[in-house]
Amino acid sequence: MIQSNLHTHTLFCDGKNTPEEMVEAAIGLGFRSLGFSGHGYADCDPGFCGTPLEAMPAYRDAVRALQAQYEGLIDVFLGIENDAAYMHPASDYDYTIGSVHYIPVGGEYHCADATPQKFERSLARAFGGDGMKMAKAYFETVCAFASAPSRPADIMGHMDLVRRFNAGGRRYFDESSPAYRAMATEALEAVVRSGMFLEVNTSLIAKGASDEPYPSVFLLRRAKEMGARVVVNSDAHAAKNLNFGFDRMEELLSRIGFTEIWELTKAGFEPQPLPDFC
Ligand SMILES: [Zn+2]
Ligand SMILES: [Zn+2]
Repeated sequence: MIQSNLHTHTLFCDGKNTPEEMVEAAIGLGFRSLGFSGHGYADCDPGFCGTPLEAMPAYRDAVRALQAQYEGLIDVFLGIENDAAYMHPASDYDYTIGSVHYIPVGGEYHCADATPQKFERSLARAFGGDGMKMAKAYFETVCAFASAPSRPADIMGHMDLVRRFNAGGRRYFDESSPAYRAMATEALEAVVRSGMFLEVNTSLIAKGASDEPYPSVFLLRRAKEMGARVVVNSDAHAAKNLNFGFDRMEELLSRIGFTEIWELTKAGFEPQPLPDFC
């Protein structure tokens, strides 16, 4: 069973629990480790996700204190979810997640992850209502991020986040269309080539918005062909979701052909064998 989660949020950003409540819940679940990935402040949208720049040292201090307090009970790691638009230095953290939440268009930043109303406003304003254009711009942003000369993060977060409000896989763009699949696959390939771990993120399933994680199953199949290394996270904004969908992901990944997932340990990232469902 997967007993680790590196993508979690707390009251320091837009989560519902304190870091300590998250650690206690993780211990209750028998986790080996828990990583905190508070949203990094981004100046293109200072209010998004509720992390003021001046709050970040307090966040780091709180997690470092828990790391010491729970030593021997659970490995606590200090991370950050950096947005591609504003990268905080990795040297302050044990690991980093890099995510694309914003699509830059003509000097404006359009968020793919705010509310359905904001998503629709961006769709109309920047893409003339054309969902495929928006998806294309999103994946181009992922490609540019992943193709930076030096690896931008340890883990690529929710690489097809643009699906978030695309109800049924077709509300704004058709996720089964060859054109969509081609642009998403190109971004996936850039992510895998970058050497970043590929995050399998269950939060879209937790929201009841899809049966498939980020990334979609067709992308996970391509990732397996390319030899991608995957990390399973729930992007938990509350303690109750710390291991949401992990059993389903074990089975899904095993059926696709993955034999291991990766977890962060004190010695660095290490593979953990997956149960064989085939
Ligand atoms: Zn995110
Ligand atoms: Zn997140």
